Amino acid sequence: MKKPADKNAVAKPSRRNTVVLPDDACPTCGTMMKETRGSLRSPVNGEQVSVPSVSHFQCPSCGEQVLTYAQACRFEEDAAALYRKKYGLLSGHQIRAIREHHRLTQVELAGLLRLGPNTISRWEAGRNVQTAALDMLLRLIRDLPASLAYLREHAAKI
Ligand SMILES: [Zn+2]
Repeated sequence: MKKPADKNAVAKPSRRNTVVLPDDACPTCGTMMKETRGSLRSPVNGEQVSVPSVSHFQCPSCGEQVLTYAQACRFEEDAAALYRKKYGLLSGHQIRAIREHHRLTQVELAGLLRLGPNTISRWEAGRNVQTAALDMLLRLIRDLPASLAYLREHAAKI
């Protein structure tokens, strides 16, 4: 399965001097693809999550599956939501509420948890989902205020 950067990338050949294909042509064999819905699997935190009824394009000839940028975004959000539900993890709204309660920016909270600067914003937007271990750390910050002071004292110094 390929996830092009945008709709126009669906059919662009990757090499020069190849035949330019129409927008909805299969990037593998050139057959016109059909838009369909079906179950696809996506890795979330290293685990394969099966997402039902994903809108995507499929080649009737070779079976190649291609998602537009919008379809890929929706697919990843649905996969993250299913993973979150399976493990009973905090929602993006709940993470935001914890962060705002402590008057932290997304980057500040990411720093305290030793994560990349964009991680919290992706969790809050539902594009990615925290692991169960990090979910537990977020709950500690929520339920045990002293844990935040501990992180402030130690996180940056390790
Ligand atoms: Zn094909």
